[in-house]
Amino acid sequence: MVYKSIMTQDDLAFDQRHIWHPYTSMTSPLPVYPVAAAHGCELTLATGERLVDGMSSWWAAIHGYNHPQLNAAMKAQIDQMSHVMFGGITHAPAIALCRRLVAMTPAPLECVFLADSGSVAVEVAMKMALQYWHAKGEPRRRFLTFRNGYHGDTFGAMSACDPDSSMHSLWKGYLPENLFAPAPQSRFDGTWDEHDMVAFARLMAAHRHEIAAVILEPIVQGAGGMRMYHPEWLRRIRRMCDREGILLIADEIATGFGRTGRLFACEHAGIAPDILCLGKALTGGTMTLSATLTTRTVADTISDGEAGCFMHGPTFMGNPLACAVAGASLALLESGEWQAQVAAIEAQLRAALMPLKAAPQVADVRVLGAIGVVETREPVDMARLQKFFVAQGVWIRPFGRLIYLMPPYLITPEQLARLTDAVKAALNDNTHFAV
Ligand code: PLP
Repeated sequence: MVYKSIMTQDDLAFDQRHIWHPYTSMTSPLPVYPVAAAHGCELTLATGERLVDGMSSWWAAIHGYNHPQLNAAMKAQIDQMSHVMFGGITHAPAIALCRRLVAMTPAPLECVFLADSGSVAVEVAMKMALQYWHAKGEPRRRFLTFRNGYHGDTFGAMSACDPDSSMHSLWKGYLPENLFAPAPQSRFDGTWDEHDMVAFARLMAAHRHEIAAVILEPIVQGAGGMRMYHPEWLRRIRRMCDREGILLIADEIATGFGRTGRLFACEHAGIAPDILCLGKALTGGTMTLSATLTTRTVADTISDGEAGCFMHGPTFMGNPLACAVAGASLALLESGEWQAQVAAIEAQLRAALMPLKAAPQVADVRVLGAIGVVETREPVDMARLQKFFVAQGVWIRPFGRLIYLMPPYLITPEQLARLTDAVKAALNDNTHFAV
């Protein structure tokens, strides 16, 4: 039976009254658009209009929607078992997925913890770092990170997010107080400025015996501003961490799996972290699943400590259905086709977006891999601009002063042109900005 998704006005009124959407108010919710289906690089609204997808559902749907190989993997797995507990049990989809992850990530990372979402992967990474130091008999409680970072919405993850945008003042007294260095200023496409490191290095020196780990988003700071910074930063931080024995956590939940033009963003700097967080595109955007990988040294130290084990184990850990589709998504990446696709997207984004730098509304334009960002001078009027984009037949979700594109890798040049044309058109109308 084919389920036909029909949404009535009554359904939409129910949604507005009773269902929370990400970062929205219950008293004055932003409008939502009913989507009935998604295929390839298009979303189909319940009203029948088709929108070219510029968001990959927040970095996740790298192979587009309803991909036949991903669907086949899920259908085959569902007839075996969709879930079984991971405590005391193992299964082929998890083993096959973890083999692939160990093989494709930097060599020192060889122990995998499977969890439910990106935020939980970050919680797991932070917990690993804390337990590592506890096991060494030298408990440490703090993390060093950058301003403008974003690592998720759970409390541990939030404690490492930008203190202003994640409203640390609201959680004061409840949230661990971590150390924040100024956001990197040396741009990915610019020259390396030695001074950029000063404040970070001072913070590390002043708190070297308290810091369990440095946690960062390598190369691209995503939800905290879509900023792209110089790879030299990562090389320097790696060296400083090695010198002090401090762990390095790379949160590649957004950047992982080809988005920046390398399989993992750390590759731009040729470094490996001690702990790596993956999520989002791990399942090709079909199901929620994340992975935290670490080195044998970290894993063994934790395991030989007082607790005798790593203190985490979610109910849906290693969900077979999610593991099966993640394995299929990684197999698609292993074919290597993504490299030419991402390079072509990058070239087209550069050609179409860079000239927009001259527009009066535009403060900056940044492009890296399959990510294109137009930073505006004034914040966008989100509801108004969203409506405009839908009328243009595209799905682009701007926020703050950012209009950005990160389409599925299989987008055609014509579809990508629809997206960049819509961005260009949006800049011509000042009513799209909240002045
Ligand atoms: N880390 C980064 C870098 C992210 O971009 C996100 C989500 O946007 C997260 C962590 C949290 O992932 P999730 O929303 O799956 O909890």
